[in-house]
Amino acid sequence: MSSRLYNLAVNAANEAIKFDSEGKNELAISKYLQAFDLLMSLIRYTDNKRLKEFYADRAEQYLTRAYELKSAIERPTKAVLEQKLDEEGELQSKIISLILPEKPNVSWNDIAGLQNAKQAIEDAIILPLRYPELFKGMPTWKGILLFGPPGCGKTMLAKAAATECNATFFNVSAADIMVKWVGDSEQRIKALFEMARKSQPSIIFLDEIDALGVERTGVESAVSTRVLSQMLQMMDGVLSKPDDRIVVLGATNRPWNIDSALLRRFDKRILVPLPDTVARKEIFEVTIRKMPNLKLADDVDLNELARLTEGFSGDDIKKLCMDAWYIPIHELKQQNMLSTGIPRPVSRKDFLEALQMRRPSTSPEEVRLNEEWNKKFGTI
Ligand code: ATP
Repeated sequence: MSSRLYNLAVNAANEAIKFDSEGKNELAISKYLQAFDLLMSLIRYTDNKRLKEFYADRAEQYLTRAYELKSAIERPTKAVLEQKLDEEGELQSKIISLILPEKPNVSWNDIAGLQNAKQAIEDAIILPLRYPELFKGMPTWKGILLFGPPGCGKTMLAKAAATECNATFFNVSAADIMVKWVGDSEQRIKALFEMARKSQPSIIFLDEIDALGVERTGVESAVSTRVLSQMLQMMDGVLSKPDDRIVVLGATNRPWNIDSALLRRFDKRILVPLPDTVARKEIFEVTIRKMPNLKLADDVDLNELARLTEGFSGDDIKKLCMDAWYIPIHELKQQNMLSTGIPRPVSRKDFLEALQMRRPSTSPEEVRLNEEWNKKFGTI
């Protein structure tokens, strides 16, 4: 994994340097950002501190160069600058148009298990946002962190919370803030919070929150420090206005990498764990219910499948169901009957065959680290 990422990063960086020397600035920016992104991923998979520092150093150089090129492209002439000043409002709305709120359509019933997390979210988010009068003047949670192994329902919980209290939902990846918002990240963070304030009740979902700040690299960079301090400032604004109906919901698979100043703003920290046997059975049920073309044969026993999928996340189970469903589809294909035939029901044998090909995507080490972190810093 690491060597592949490293090779991809080197290739992207070489291409960036080539485009840069040829004056092809747009192409160079995109390749520098790609190299930055790959190096940041590489850092997450590397334990060696010196290597981390080396990658972080390189990543910072590429990001800085991308900024330089971007501001050179965008450096306005005097006339343009004057016009721009007149159009400040328009610029703001342009930025805002890039932060589109969503109306998610995930309900509590779509989420199997996770009773503790649901209860905590109901108390901390849904009730205060839905019944503001009841909570008027009361302290409420404004920064809530969902952490745990990938694919276990953090995003679903965030979306269901927004659906349940009819909140405007802003779904923003912190990695995007660092990479795709390059050049105007601070302005956009500000615009994001302003827009959330205008469209209350609002939930700002910040996925991959560990991507903000310096803690994961161990190396401070000018860019990440600026972006982080803007985020902290905005979060403090939310925390200091108890009657604003805005909640910042952070999510991460690696809570130990979150910058400590940022972590302090998340005063409720909820573990979203791997599903146990009972929850896995429920996940099979809700997943299959949402796949209208997947019919189960009589010999499929979901209790048995739940037992056989120890260590699987909800997302792994969904993918397993898809793998199993493709077996009858492949049979139809072989018979040249894709457009006319009806796939046979998915049988126990199909699931067992699919299980041969799929392993849990989360390592026991990742689970252990999340549980340990929960014991030290979790709140439920
Ligand atoms: P990541 O950390 O990788 O962003 P996540 O924890 O946010 O992952 P989700 O995106 O919420 O995970 O879940 C991915 C998919 O896995 C969902 O679309 C759903 O199909 C399935 N899934 C995960 N957990 C559950 C659950 N508890 N109940 C039902 N489906 C689930």
